[in-house]
Amino acid sequence: MAPESVDVIVVGSGPVGAMAANLLGQYGLRTVVIERETTAHTQSRAINADDEAQRIFQAAGLTGELGPGFHPCLKMTYVDDEMRMLAEVDFTKVERPNGHYIGALFNQPRLEAALHRGLERFSHVTMWRGHEVESFMQDDDGVSVRVKDTVANRTVTVRARYLLACDGAKSGIRRRLGLKLEGTTALEHALAISVETPSSAPDFTYYPCGPERVGIVTRTAHDEMRFDTVVKPGQDLEYVKSPEYVRSIIAPFIDPDSVKVKSVNLYAYHSRMAEKWRVGRVFLLGDAAHLMPPFLGQGLCSGLRDAANITWKLAHVLGGAADASLLDTYEVERRPHAAEMMRLSDSLGAMLASGGPFMARARNAFIKLLYHMPVTGPFIREYKMKPNLFHAEGFLFGGKRGKSKQAAEGAYFPQPRVEHGEEGERPLDDVIGHRFSVLTRPGAPAEVQQAAKAMAEDIGGVWLSVAPAARSGAGRSGEVVDLEGKLGEWFAQHGSDLVVLRPDRYVYAATNRAGVAQVHAALKQSVRPLTRWGSRGSRRAAQLGA
Ligand SMILES: Cc1cc2nc3c(=O)[nH]c(=O)nc-3n(C[C@H](O)[C@H](O)[C@H](O)COP(=O)(O)OP(=O)(O)OC[C@H]3O[C@@H](n4cnc5c(N)ncnc54)[C@H](O)[C@@H]3O)c2cc1C
Repeated sequence: MAPESVDVIVVGSGPVGAMAANLLGQYGLRTVVIERETTAHTQSRAINADDEAQRIFQAAGLTGELGPGFHPCLKMTYVDDEMRMLAEVDFTKVERPNGHYIGALFNQPRLEAALHRGLERFSHVTMWRGHEVESFMQDDDGVSVRVKDTVANRTVTVRARYLLACDGAKSGIRRRLGLKLEGTTALEHALAISVETPSSAPDFTYYPCGPERVGIVTRTAHDEMRFDTVVKPGQDLEYVKSPEYVRSIIAPFIDPDSVKVKSVNLYAYHSRMAEKWRVGRVFLLGDAAHLMPPFLGQGLCSGLRDAANITWKLAHVLGGAADASLLDTYEVERRPHAAEMMRLSDSLGAMLASGGPFMARARNAFIKLLYHMPVTGPFIREYKMKPNLFHAEGFLFGGKRGKSKQAAEGAYFPQPRVEHGEEGERPLDDVIGHRFSVLTRPGAPAEVQQAAKAMAEDIGGVWLSVAPAARSGAGRSGEVVDLEGKLGEWFAQHGSDLVVLRPDRYVYAATNRAGVAQVHAALKQSVRPLTRWGSRGSRRAAQLGA
């Protein structure tokens, strides 16, 4: 009997695999998710989703009822051991270019449950629980995977055009490919204490900066708080898990008797990356590709970015809308981004968690000083330590980001609220959908608008003419009204008449009238209309508005 054949096999239904499968499902690709465990785990692990991660949930259609119920972080206070404030970020005053909270907290098992519920929307995405990958082989056309059904105790083979290895830190796929995990493992450990609270109060986020306690203390859900702390080299790894020590970590913040400890996890943290993220038709994503230290809350966020990056590319290649070389840009784009997040997280960890009590006190005094200085204060208050990163190379006009200060290629495009015809006020991404888009600035010359329309038609994308806020209530068909003026500002800042966005909202090209023809020619050469949305045909395409 011929093996079951699908477009994509996803190994692992952790948050990264489940997100990838949701996005593939949106594109109508026939997907099998292979998961070793028979039931979902209950361990509270990652807790932070940045605004880009939340935007990826939006792209997957996982907001509202279907979403994980993110808990916004509205304020973060840096404190010393005596709970004296060193610095504070008031997130309600920080700009939110992506249309989501700068940081939102969550409980990982619930987040995964939301992702798994999301998969039930797609008859063409199947989850095989209790199945473990035993081996795989690839050839010119696809990948064949031997899978052990651990419940029925039999072996089956499944074949796909591509395989996404989302099988976590100890990835067996990575090991079978012979890929080394390069980097370092910290001498410190992290202790993650999850407690159940009887009500949704108190609601705060503290960043303890020592000398003794360094970590994060925060509400993650209406009924859960997390108390995470760094365990220094030389501390007794058994004692730190004891009820006595756990109480001592909780007590400075709330009465330990008012909460119920749900879990205490001690884990080593790493700054490591697989030497390659792709071998032939197999791609590594999430923890299988990179392991991040916890200080910037980027472990999971980086994995979700991997999923958002590879899935639209697979959809275009499998749908005949782009050449297979598009897939080469996955690692070119994602590796430097993840490496930079790792470097920043390492630096923050080194600054906060290293050194003895004397150094820690000096550091805390320095943080306080920086916070109150006119030049450095805004850097902390406006949360600029996490920079807006961009792709320097990859699937961009000319293959590289331009050198000028105004260059926009590879940047993540903002998501303001816009007004769109009878649909009324909406976040921009919901208007665009899962396709390329060409946006023209308010008042763009007619020839630019005509070129934008032709460009969108040639690549199967959508052209949206941005109209000024004054046109609210009177926007024409094909127009988005720039209610907050943010899109107009963006065009002015980059000196462009037109911008081309990829389906993952990264800028492919931004140009003025003079460069439009060149962008059009380059784009037309690389992207064709998606006439076949995976194996599911055009039904999904119609649903997605393409
Ligand atoms: C105790 C703990 C605390 C953490 N705290 C934080 C935090 O505060 N912040 C943060 O950002 N990150 C944190 N992390 C890391 C975060 O949880 C990971 O970055 C995230 O879970 C990675 O998701 P993933 O989908 O790549 O891998 P995983 O979540 O590990 O999922 C991998 C999946 O693959 C399955 N699998 C593995 N091998 C096979 C196979 N051969 N066949 C079939 N299925 C297979 C596994 O069963 C699993 O379901 C923590 C991790 C731990 C363990």
